[in-house]
Amino acid sequence: MAVEVITIGTELLLGDILDSNAQFIARALREAGIDLFWKTTVGDNPERIAEAVRLALSRAEAVITTGGLGPTVDDPTREAVARATGRPLEFRPELWQQIQDRMARWARAFPDNNRRQAYLPQGAMAIENPVGTAPGFIVEAEHSCVLTLPGVPREMQHMLGEAVIPYLRSRLGVQAMFRSRVLHLAGVGESVIDEKIGEFETLGNPTVGLAAHNGIIDVRITAKGEREAELAAEIGRLEAEIRRRLAEAVFGTDDETLEGVTLRRAAEKGERVAVVEWGTGGKLGGRLAAAGFPETFVGGLTLPGLAASLESVEQETSRWMAARGATIGVGLSVRSASPASESYIVRISPGEREAKARTYGGPPPSANRWAVNVALHLLWRSLQEKDLASA
Ligand code: ATP
Ligand code: MG
Repeated sequence: MAVEVITIGTELLLGDILDSNAQFIARALREAGIDLFWKTTVGDNPERIAEAVRLALSRAEAVITTGGLGPTVDDPTREAVARATGRPLEFRPELWQQIQDRMARWARAFPDNNRRQAYLPQGAMAIENPVGTAPGFIVEAEHSCVLTLPGVPREMQHMLGEAVIPYLRSRLGVQAMFRSRVLHLAGVGESVIDEKIGEFETLGNPTVGLAAHNGIIDVRITAKGEREAELAAEIGRLEAEIRRRLAEAVFGTDDETLEGVTLRRAAEKGERVAVVEWGTGGKLGGRLAAAGFPETFVGGLTLPGLAASLESVEQETSRWMAARGATIGVGLSVRSASPASESYIVRISPGEREAKARTYGGPPPSANRWAVNVALHLLWRSLQEKDLASA
């Protein structure tokens, strides 16, 4: 019960555009409980497309293609699918009528080569394309089928949701669906996480996967099943166990952000947060400002150049806190460089200060994002600790 996706377009192979169609389809299939085992990308060449479709038909129960359905000669998918399935293209007057009607409604001059879009492999079912001109189509082969969609993301997405997913779920007899939950962690390395929850990463269902993004690590729990309530329970059980083992590192779930949960907590405690930064292009203040707590985040100051020392970060931060009436301040100075970026990070609360010089060995363009995450995490953790202390 597996599907293969073929994305078609020479511009994909040249790296001119990102293959977002493949990603979109992969997610939609996952949520619909349909297994995707292969993804292939091929250029606008009829022989190679036909070859890719033939191979996919030999090993998958359904093949989804995107791209190459336009009216021009370099849109070769129609012909390639016809070849791969051994069905000649045939003219479908009713589709030509639909295309003409649609273009008339858009008051477009239609060149006659749009007629090409009314040709489908013999016996194919058309998939309507209300957001564009080229209809998609489904060709049923003996043990498999090909579902051909246009390349324009908006058109593809529409037809996928309206026609392709329901068709596949019914054809493949899929009852299962997937639900997932992402836990966001900071302040721990991947190796520590592996050590504590590595045993879950080899589970078959639910699955657990890690993804690291500049100081933040996402742990995704995905469960497959037939009933929503069971899936929620399974995910909940595993989430509780992961939280038990990594409690101090989990700061949020799903759509939550580090800046969002930090300011929410600060707001609950009636704190007022101000930040000063050097060398970051204002990213720390920018993220806090965008998180939507204007009463709690009372000001970001971006200074030119870099701070000379941890002490000067501390001084400027205290000064800015006083100017803004803040109860908590964070100062951050980042020198992005190769082979290592250096940053000074300071957190100041009444009667308390934490100052750290930290080194980042990753690529310099990521140093800002990493340092901002470290600074936010420091702030977040200080808000947690006070909670624990007062509990
Ligand atoms: P049209 O009828 O507009 O010609 P088409 O089916 O022929 O549609 P393509 O010509 O292959 O589709 O692609 C049209 C546009 O859609 C591309 O220029 C590109 O911007 C976008 N596109 C195509 N394939 C992908 C993909 N895999 N991921 C993201 N965008 C894509
Ligand atoms: Mg095209």
